[in-house]
Amino acid sequence: MANDRILLTPGPLTTSLQTKLAMLRDWGSWDVEFNDVTARVRKSLLKILHGEDSHVVVPLQGSGTFSIEAAVATLVPANGHVLVLDNGAYCKRAAKLTTLMGRRCTLMPFSDDEAVSPAALREKLIADSSISDVVLIHCETGAGVLNPLQAIADICAEFNKGLIVDAMSSFAAIEIDARKTRFDALIAASGKCLEGAPGMGFVFIRKAVLDGCAGRSQSLAMDLHDQYVYMEKTGQWRFTPPTHVVVALAEAISQFEAEGGQPARLARYTSNYETLVRGMTALGFKPFLDPTIQAPIIVTFHAPAHPNYDFKRFYEAAKARGFILYPGKLTQVETFRVGCIGAITSVEIEQAVHAVSLALQDLGMPSGSPAAPA
Ligand SMILES: *Cc1c(COP(=O)(O)O)cnc(C)c1O
Repeated sequence: MANDRILLTPGPLTTSLQTKLAMLRDWGSWDVEFNDVTARVRKSLLKILHGEDSHVVVPLQGSGTFSIEAAVATLVPANGHVLVLDNGAYCKRAAKLTTLMGRRCTLMPFSDDEAVSPAALREKLIADSSISDVVLIHCETGAGVLNPLQAIADICAEFNKGLIVDAMSSFAAIEIDARKTRFDALIAASGKCLEGAPGMGFVFIRKAVLDGCAGRSQSLAMDLHDQYVYMEKTGQWRFTPPTHVVVALAEAISQFEAEGGQPARLARYTSNYETLVRGMTALGFKPFLDPTIQAPIIVTFHAPAHPNYDFKRFYEAAKARGFILYPGKLTQVETFRVGCIGAITSVEIEQAVHAVSLALQDLGMPSGSPAAPA
């Protein structure tokens, strides 16, 4: 286990030994002991969001995307019209699943190297009164941009529109306070900044809209209202729960609380981010984003211009030193990504930068600069 590679990806992430050890037991899904773990996890999640008064939380089996799809199907009425603020790959995925769920969907395009614009949203809502719900990706993991959640939420509140937030890669690391920020649904998952194992998502739903969601979902398995009602009544999940993932998340949340909660997690990730950018810049690499819109979650770097560069070989050379990098997700320019999240500190990031420097040597490249060699 000590020899596991370090995952510098947006999930699954490197988890702590204690979190892995929590998965060594079997649990009965009907048993009160397991139901207690589920109840404890739900209570902790609401506390992280400061949402005890305003929201409920509904866990769902599957990866994060399953919960986004479930949230759209459960919250948006059949005749609704969803506006997706699009500055990257995860936005396009949200739009695609919205369309597949049979809801009318409009994409509002922004560049993938800029944050979405609250002013442009305001214009759009004035121009098109048919829009019922807005979808915002809080941290667009495609390039790593942090979008302006508070300003977008304020406009949705002003125009009385629903707001669905994909906070998958920001929740628990970047501050989100349900007492200050109004949204109808906010989605995150076990295997991101809470540093649990992947396998379950959870959706915070505003109490004020919950009852209206009954019977809206055209899917049985993805109906969050049904999952909520059943869980409240029985303490159990509707269908087979990912028991090991749930107990691992409970353990991961205990460590999160012991570390000092969201502010401490943000501080550690920020230190990872700064160490990464400093080290990579010294090797000649150039971050894709302007630092003012960059979340300390995942960093996109331009691919080096050197003719020897080949992502696969670069990846294999870093992997041979114990570090897993991540391919880029941009269509216009060639890039790769390095995650700052997971149960790692700046020590592992320094080692990763060293691994990258050795990978450059392997490929016979003097630097990672994206400028063409003179
Ligand atoms: C990770 C992530 C998701 C979910 O992806 P899955 O592969 O389904 O876990 C969704 N949105 C964002 C912004 C993400 O970072």
